[in-house]
This record gives sequence, C-alpha cells and structure tokens, in this order.
Amino acid sequence: MNLQTNSFFKTANFVEAGVWIAIGIAFACFALTKSPFHKRAFAAAIVFVLFGVSDVVETQTGAWWRPWWLLCWKGLCILSMLMLYVRHKLGRIATEDLAASSTAYARITNPKAMAAEITDDTECNACGYNLRGLTAGGNCPECGHPIKRTLAAQQGFHLRGEHLMFASFAIYCVGLFWSVAAHKLGKHLGGIPVYVALGEIAPIVLGLSAILMYFIGPKTRGVHVYLYIMALAITGFLYFQFCIAVIASA
Ligand SMILES: [Zn+2]
Repeated sequence: MNLQTNSFFKTANFVEAGVWIAIGIAFACFALTKSPFHKRAFAAAIVFVLFGVSDVVETQTGAWWRPWWLLCWKGLCILSMLMLYVRHKLGRIATEDLAASSTAYARITNPKAMAAEITDDTECNACGYNLRGLTAGGNCPECGHPIKRTLAAQQGFHLRGEHLMFASFAIYCVGLFWSVAAHKLGKHLGGIPVYVALGEIAPIVLGLSAILMYFIGPKTRGVHVYLYIMALAITGFLYFQFCIAVIASA
C-alpha cells in the first residue's frame, strides 16, 4: 500500500467510525425517550459505538480481518445488530397488532387487542403511572384515563425537542470526526486552526439553541436539555484536548 492509499484508507475509516458512532449516539438518545423500545435502543447504541471504535482500531491494524480479535469483534457486532433487528421486527408485529386497534379506539371492538397485556414500561399519558402488566382495554388505576388512549397517543412520530437535540449532536460528532480525519484544514482564524475553532464554537451555539428551544420550541424535558449541554461540553473539551495534543506533536 503506498502512502496516498494508506492515508485515504485511514481517512475513510475515521469517517466510517464517525458515522457508526453517530448512529450509536442517536440510538442512545432514543433510549432516553419513553418509547417502548428504549431498552432495545440502548443495546443498539452500545453495539454501534463498539462497531465504530473497531474502525478506529482498523486504522492502526491496516485491515478489518487482522488480527483475529478484530475480526471477532466486528463479527460479534454485526451478529448483535442482526439479532436486535430480528427481535425488533418480531416485537413490532405484536405491537402493531395492538396499535391497529387502539388508534381507532372510538370504533373498535377487538377483544383480542384490548385483552393484550402491556409488556413494556409505558407511562400513562395523563399521570405518568406505569401501565406495565395491565391490559389495553382497561383504565389507568391511578387516574382513570383509558389506557387505549395512551397507546393511541404513542403511535406515530411526535417531534420532540429530544429528537432535534440528538440529531444536532450526531451531526456535531460526525463533523468532529470529519475534521480530525481531514485536518488539513490548514486555515487559521486569529492564530487558531479553523477546525479547532469550529469544533469549539459549534457546541456553544448548539447549547444556546437548546436552551432557547426549551422555552419556545417543541416539548423537551429540562433534564434532557441539561444532559445534552453536559454532553456538548464534555465532547467539546475532549476535542480541544485532542487538538492541543495534535498541534503539540506536529
Ligand atoms: Zn393515569
């Protein structure tokens, strides 16, 4: 492998790692939501991040099949992704069966769906009581809100502040990986390399928009805004440290 191919290989691997890790972060944020799939999303987050890290290791080993443990690592990740997908598909069929009846709850008389037990942690839409173990046809034991209404409300995609936050965080992380991979962005901004400056300005802008969004944007939990800002601050700080190390070694 000549030097140019080698540097292209490394760049491509870093970009690929960034994409997998961004997907992992997206799953992690999804795991923070109250979706019935949040546990599965957490598992997917770990698998995707580990798969991304294996690409970073690959830049050092030069091939995805050596040494043997890298091959095992990647193989296990792909196997886990497949298993999660199959489990999700199977689980989805059961949920859709229930959902198909609960969305049109005004007209339904599907006793099978209404007798189905809720197997995941599900918060009552009205009071937040955990409805796990109850049946779809009943009422919330805490406040009397019909459970089928909670289930109906969970169908479909509701844009929440969390979705925007995890999307922006994923884009930010991909941006950092990209600038690390292609850090020939040799331009300077008042003595500071552009890729360092952008990497530090972005989290400040994103953090301020999150605070603004919390007050005027789609529904967002304050604790998630806090976690998001912490994640931005930590990532920004680590990136800054990384840049200092790179500049010092140059
Ligand atoms: Zn309730």
